[in-house]
Amino acid sequence: MENLSALWEARALLEDLTPLKSDCGRRCGQACCRSQTGEPQGMLLFPGEEDFYRDRPGYRMLPCAQGTLLVCDGHCRREERPLSCRLFPLLPLVRGNAVAPAMDRRGRGVCPLVRHGLEALDPAFVAAVTQVGERLLTEPVQASFLRALTAEQDEWARLSQALGAKR
Ligand code: SF4
Ligand code: SF4
Repeated sequence: MENLSALWEARALLEDLTPLKSDCGRRCGQACCRSQTGEPQGMLLFPGEEDFYRDRPGYRMLPCAQGTLLVCDGHCRREERPLSCRLFPLLPLVRGNAVAPAMDRRGRGVCPLVRHGLEALDPAFVAAVTQVGERLLTEPVQASFLRALTAEQDEWARLSQALGAKR
């Protein structure tokens, strides 16, 4: 059976920390919890998180290419936030055997913090995201998921460079 201790420890590392010391949601009206398109929006679940949300009121799950999307109604209890929401707008990318926190490219156009870079964020939050990545890398299933997310981000970076070069 899959060992989920890394997942729950990762969630706990970001239980109280947020991107800024102040409530960043006040600046943007909690843009990351609102649908940008009118369609329900989903956050990618890490392996093993599905069981927590199954039959939990206010959530539904949809399969997607990377695994499972959690769809919410734009409100949740803080302690119920999935790991993707806790990490946002960062992702712990994997570089060799190390972790490098980086702005999540999916956050462009949603989160006003993305254009300001890591320096604008609470250093304690950035450090916790690194720790989350390091903890996840100790579990093969989580490590493989994180490496796939990293590859996806790198592919988007490559595509956006290629498109930029053509303009
Ligand atoms: S969109 Fe960015 S700034 Fe707004 S609440 Fe989400 S993380 Fe904070
Ligand atoms: S699960 Fe909670 S934190 Fe995540 S998008 Fe939905 S309302 Fe926002």
